[in-house]
Amino acid sequence: ARQFTRPLNDLANQFNTLLSAIAGAERVFSIMDEPDEISDEETHGELEEVTGEVTFDDVSFSYEKEENTVTNISFRVQAGESVAFVGPTGAGKTTMISLLSRFYDPDKGALLVDGTDTSTVKRESLRKHMAFVLQDSFLFQGTIRENIRYGRLNASDEEIVEAAKLANAHSFISRLPDGYDTEIDAEGGGISQGQKQLLSIARALLSDPSILVLDEATSSIDTVTELKIQEALERLMKGRTSFVIAHRLNTIQQADQIIVLHQGRMIEKGSHEELLKEGGFYADLYNSQLKKETG
Ligand code: ADP
Repeated sequence: ARQFTRPLNDLANQFNTLLSAIAGAERVFSIMDEPDEISDEETHGELEEVTGEVTFDDVSFSYEKEENTVTNISFRVQAGESVAFVGPTGAGKTTMISLLSRFYDPDKGALLVDGTDTSTVKRESLRKHMAFVLQDSFLFQGTIRENIRYGRLNASDEEIVEAAKLANAHSFISRLPDGYDTEIDAEGGGISQGQKQLLSIARALLSDPSILVLDEATSSIDTVTELKIQEALERLMKGRTSFVIAHRLNTIQQADQIIVLHQGRMIEKGSHEELLKEGGFYADLYNSQLKKETG
């Protein structure tokens, strides 16, 4: 069933099972370097300060040797721009994110961050510039405070509250009987799906990365929380390069670049207006599906 395992889900699972034992410990960082991933060479360098300019330079990659999962992908993102990956299930959206996070290196071509080929730098050194807000938020057994602090382990309690406020999470946390000391279990018991997202946004804000990876929730979240999430995400994305596996029309419309993937190929690229004008796959998708979804 290997072909059904997806790295980002694996990562979430690793967090949920392993972190429950060691909440708050520095060792959490090494979880990201668990086996099953490509190995870091001793010679791999460090990626110091980055602005977040990202280039996919003719990237091809396959999980199985015979067939490419993504083929000849080239595009460039300026620092601070947002990119929405759009396409049907299996099109390669998650794989693009996995390559960007160096779960895998391309078979062909290169991925550059601020001009540096990421296959030459240590994963941990790349990922310290990145934060992830995924559908299945990485919550571990521990308090809400510890879960937010995971974004930056040396953050003060005040900084944690500050991040929670910016993430629109402070008000719901404050209403809990134990506030920031509320224990949450690995399943995030006691708090809603939407609140989990707010916590992972707070964590991401605290880590202050140049590059963001967002996988929008597909499950329904109540309207009030949904608005809080959108507002918090806007704050988070401001000034950072972001890659979104987008399901919401709103996010897609606002993206600087929409990358339309189909069977691992980039079939269209442009802003919402540009792609509508082109009258291709995206325009069809928009007219037949996206428009209706948001009513
Ligand atoms: P999307 O996110 O757009 O739904 P994915 O990137 O998850 O697409 O998948 C692209 C293709 O790669 C699909 O055919 C999928 O079955 C395959 N795939 C994804 N992950 C793996 C894996 N770990 N091993 C083998 N094949 C995979």
